[in-house]
Amino acid sequence: MNDRILFIGPQGCGKSTQAVLLAEYLRIPKISTGDIFREMSQVKDILAAGQLVDDETTAEIVKKRLQESDCQNGFILDGYPRSIAQKELFDPRFSCVIYLKVPDTEVTRRMMARGREDDTLESIKTRLSLYYEQTQPLLDYYKNQGILIEVDGTGSVEAIQNEIKKSI
Ligand code: AMP
Repeated sequence: MNDRILFIGPQGCGKSTQAVLLAEYLRIPKISTGDIFREMSQVKDILAAGQLVDDETTAEIVKKRLQESDCQNGFILDGYPRSIAQKELFDPRFSCVIYLKVPDTEVTRRMMARGREDDTLESIKTRLSLYYEQTQPLLDYYKNQGILIEVDGTGSVEAIQNEIKKSI
């Protein structure tokens, strides 16, 4: 088996939580570009403003990471690609894309509640509008490829995880 899975959806939709659980279940690594960037001091200001790191840097980091030996039997990506442009720079060739659907009001509420350093109301708004502008178009692309799975992200963590396991 070589599962190459992408989790996609607005920030605060629960991608990261669900990706961790699925990665444990499938015994493959979960790679999050947000986690990688939060460890890099050079991009601190970009993250704090809710802006995106430049495409070339991002694509290069992901490409290198996926070449490591732990990814050879599959991986789960959370946070890349965030736009068609990124996919064109480096395409991880997913076998399956899981889209967690959650309404805006709910993701904003969740982000305010988790209180991460880059979760101010302004940066949340910036990230949501970037999501609609840049990330949402990827959904159509993967839908056309026939690999998009839509999952309702509003239930309990366990119920959503079960739904995901059933659908992959
Ligand atoms: P996340 O943890 O996915 O919410 O990402 C946190 C922050 O990391 C984002 O607001 C961006 O500044 C940066 N980031 C994560 N993934 C990407 C990406 N694919 N392209 C550009 N910036 C990213």
